[in-house]
Amino acid sequence: MTTQNKTITHILGYPRIGEKRELKFAQEQYWKGEIDQNTLKAVGNELRQRHWNDQTASGLSYVAAGDFAWYDHVLTTSLLLGHVPARHSNGGFPDLDTLFKVARGQSANSEASSCGCGSSHEESAGAAASDMTKWFNTNYHYIVPEFSQDDNFQVSWPQLFDEVNQAIQAGHNVKPVLLGPLSYLYLGKEVNEEEVENGFNRLYLLARILPAYQAILSKLKALGVEWVQIDEPILSLELEDKWSSAFKLAYQILQGEVKLLLTTYFDSVEDNLAKIVELPVDGLHIDLSASPEQLEAVNNVIPQDWVLSVGVINGRNVWRADLESWLTKLQPVKAQRGDKLWVASSCSLLHSPIDLELEIELSEEVKSWFAFAKQKLNEVSLLGAALDGNSHAVAACSSYSEPIKARLSAEHVNKPQVQQRLNSLTQALVERSAVYSERAHHQAEVLGLPLLPTTTIGSFPQTAEIRQQRSAFRTGKLSEADYEQALKGHIQDAVKRQEALDLDVLVHGEAERNDMVEYFAENLSGFQVTRFGWVQSYGSRCVKPAIVVADIEREKPMTVDWSVYAQSLTSKQMKGMLTGPVTILCWTFPREDITRKQIAQQLAFALRDEVDDLQNAGINIIQIDEPAIREGLPLKKRDHKAYLEWAVDAFKLSAASAKPETQIHTHMCYSEFNEIIDSVAALDADVITIETSRSNMELLKAFEEFNYPNEIGPGVYDIHSPNIPTQEWIIGLLETASKKIPVERLWVNPDCGLKTRNWAETEASLHNMVEAAKTLRKRFQA
Ligand code: GLN
Ligand code: ZN
Repeated sequence: MTTQNKTITHILGYPRIGEKRELKFAQEQYWKGEIDQNTLKAVGNELRQRHWNDQTASGLSYVAAGDFAWYDHVLTTSLLLGHVPARHSNGGFPDLDTLFKVARGQSANSEASSCGCGSSHEESAGAAASDMTKWFNTNYHYIVPEFSQDDNFQVSWPQLFDEVNQAIQAGHNVKPVLLGPLSYLYLGKEVNEEEVENGFNRLYLLARILPAYQAILSKLKALGVEWVQIDEPILSLELEDKWSSAFKLAYQILQGEVKLLLTTYFDSVEDNLAKIVELPVDGLHIDLSASPEQLEAVNNVIPQDWVLSVGVINGRNVWRADLESWLTKLQPVKAQRGDKLWVASSCSLLHSPIDLELEIELSEEVKSWFAFAKQKLNEVSLLGAALDGNSHAVAACSSYSEPIKARLSAEHVNKPQVQQRLNSLTQALVERSAVYSERAHHQAEVLGLPLLPTTTIGSFPQTAEIRQQRSAFRTGKLSEADYEQALKGHIQDAVKRQEALDLDVLVHGEAERNDMVEYFAENLSGFQVTRFGWVQSYGSRCVKPAIVVADIEREKPMTVDWSVYAQSLTSKQMKGMLTGPVTILCWTFPREDITRKQIAQQLAFALRDEVDDLQNAGINIIQIDEPAIREGLPLKKRDHKAYLEWAVDAFKLSAASAKPETQIHTHMCYSEFNEIIDSVAALDADVITIETSRSNMELLKAFEEFNYPNEIGPGVYDIHSPNIPTQEWIIGLLETASKKIPVERLWVNPDCGLKTRNWAETEASLHNMVEAAKTLRKRFQA
């Protein structure tokens, strides 16, 4: 074994928001004009110094620089390359305000609104913000680069060089991080339809972008950099040949300035391995958390003189690594590759919370199961030392792994009663007791709804008062009884307003929920919630996912009292409101000792009992939201089918306790359905409400071709915007919809929950919506 040279250890990037979300608060203050740019920059500077110090102090060989971003790292790359949409450019070099314009739009009254559906939009009257979309299969969102055929690229934004220099000046050993040219192009989109019709494809810009990358690399070299981490995460996708073949030329041009560590993550690179080994790079990083089985194939074929960086410390989850078993797995590779084996985080730690030590409310046992970003630095470092044969480190790896090994057989984690129930799962449990046509009959009788029934998606404005009361309750300033009274007041208010609007199916308004997933995580056993476990979603927006730590059980009803109370206030139908199993799974940190499918099944059983209790308590309509079902899709198309099968079954299992006369709704808030339309239909919900308003009912095309069998509520207005839709506009959309879907099966509703809006907008919009439905109802019944 080569032990003379210390194993190189590094991470692919660190969370930038700060352990107390310092960056978020500074950004938002800057946007409001409360602090100046220097103050904002000082906050960023302090965070970077702190993060580099943490990396060096943990004993890592390199610190990552260039991973910091003022909004998002894809947008940083756009500015670095001087690639700014013309509508945001001031003609000269871009500056920090240019960056925020691209991200947030140019109007002074920019406002962010987020419903939790991951498709948040920022309004602007001036130059519209660039689009934002999900970063691979994570809950991080990036700003989509916009490409046209005349685009030029020129190194234009000094942030990367300044930061690399700062880190060097501070005495760190620095490895810059750079998003590679092919992934950068791939992640963007062509914006000019005419150009596309004439055959333009963004890959044609490669030849023009490479000189800018060359310039970047030579500047880094001049700063004294030896290695650059060049991220090409698209190598984990099933790439079209034109993309995978382009790598060779590109990297021939980029070679020679500095050593390049070609970095991949989120899935296996095996599909593209034959192309990868031909590249003139100096090393390859692979994600062994996402795909441990690729180790052998990759290690066998990459050149002996390449560095193999193994990403074993999971950057996207909160679990303590089993260092002992990694040590055993990696020892033979170390023996073979010597100091060409590097040890790393699987991907950037951007996707994990920052510091476990802040979680003083967690029990010591639970804490001993977790590692957040700061703790992961130590894991990487310790594993590196153990691979070098350091006997203290080897012993430390074993003792470090003990708590998570003990957890595997702990009865409070693996609950026999939950497992028995999972074992009892049969296909019969997954199916409703009657087919839709029969159910529709019963439901029509029980519910007594008019043609084109009107409803909303669940939440009503989360007013400052509601938020204050919740926080007062959480900090003990408001008693449980008083809090309950306050919430009942909000329900009364919501019911009164809905009756005045003359909506047909009412909701209680979700005032008791801080978040559609966290609420259920707090009410089910098997979850842990954290105080500071924030993860960046986009820009200044962070989410705090709950953690699945044990088998999931519903110990008591979670929503029944609220729904029953709301129903007692009205003679109209009150819709019960649940978050579906797949969405709860996708928006939490999952366990890794059982499969995602098993977690979804456990959730489904818990929700199934809630459905049953709701219907027995007199709630005739129950909505089970699944806004995340599409984003749970695996990265590779060939894995889609298996996922969709279990995801659909989990939803159906949760809904199938409903009697034929109980109407099950589901809701999804995005419009790219085509890919999964069969699965959406297979959910067999009686009613689905979906987003369509922003695409002018474009989505319904998918339903037209497919002939969706049950009822649909195509969202008739965009709740992400403060604009009040007119009656004519809504009538127009509904007329379009009625040409594609029989009017008997059409519902009328907004496209998502209303919690981010205020009451004035909400009431004005819903008034127009209800009036539009009434006008059309008369027309169709005439
Ligand atoms: N019922 C939830 C609400 O109305 C649905 C939110 C969502 O789809 N993201 O807020
Ligand atoms: Zn929604």
